[in-house]
Amino acid sequence: MALVNKIIPFSCIDGPGNRTSIFFQGCNFKCSYCHNPETINKCVNCGKCVAVCPVNALEIKDKKVVWDDKKCVACDACIRECKHLSTPKTKDYSVDELFEEIKQVAPFIEGITVSGGEATLNADFLTDLFRKVKDELGLTCFVDTNGSIDLSQYEEFVKLTDKFMIDVKSMDEEEHLKVTGLNNHTVIKNLKYLLDLDKVYEIRTVIAPNLNNENTVREASKIIKDKCKYKFNIYRHYGVRKEGLDFHGSDSPSEEEINKCYKIYEENIL
Ligand code: SF4
Ligand code: SF4
Repeated sequence: MALVNKIIPFSCIDGPGNRTSIFFQGCNFKCSYCHNPETINKCVNCGKCVAVCPVNALEIKDKKVVWDDKKCVACDACIRECKHLSTPKTKDYSVDELFEEIKQVAPFIEGITVSGGEATLNADFLTDLFRKVKDELGLTCFVDTNGSIDLSQYEEFVKLTDKFMIDVKSMDEEEHLKVTGLNNHTVIKNLKYLLDLDKVYEIRTVIAPNLNNENTVREASKIIKDKCKYKFNIYRHYGVRKEGLDFHGSDSPSEEEINKCYKIYEENIL
């Protein structure tokens, strides 16, 4: 079983073509600029969000919070109430159940993309899902990851994944620790490992205030070269929790700073 935060049946921003995007609940990073921090932790069933639901879509049954998606009006009052960076609006899926959801939209999509939270925390589950999706539906399978799980340990999973999209949060170890809560050793190892296998669709870096963006872009570009796309995601304060706002502020980086990063990228991919 794996805990799913949401499924977007049709997305054109999560890899090539029209794709079904599946967001898993739970992440081992706690990024300061995360814009969907409610996906970071799994619910601990404290029950505090139940009372704020205006349509009684939440209740406690056998000491667990149960969410009724038919009653829910998606007001997100429960998420605002949760102090645990979580949400009661998740659902446990078996591989077969998730496969059935994908099968319903299969004629209209080019593939699936798993994201999060951190999807690779469910690597064994995904191995089984991808095998079934490829064998029975012939769809491509992409993984959007923070690169924190050593993927050389999951050979079959990597084999079944068409392409990965990896975040490089910072190339500086201390800064990475400050931004995410973990060091960047495994991220860099995965980056090199997957590039060598030609398994990378794109690398992404969030260009955010009060980070050494130029160093990250320079050092990442030296590894990426021209082997895949390198995308800059520009920091926006929407959805960012208070600690993140204290760290990065409310303004997005200037056009001048973004252009500087782009120039550094160009100078270092050759
Ligand atoms: S998002 Fe849904 S479950 Fe949460 S408080 Fe609003 S109606 Fe209730
Ligand atoms: S979602 Fe948050 S507030 Fe609601 S029960 Fe779970 S941990 Fe508690």
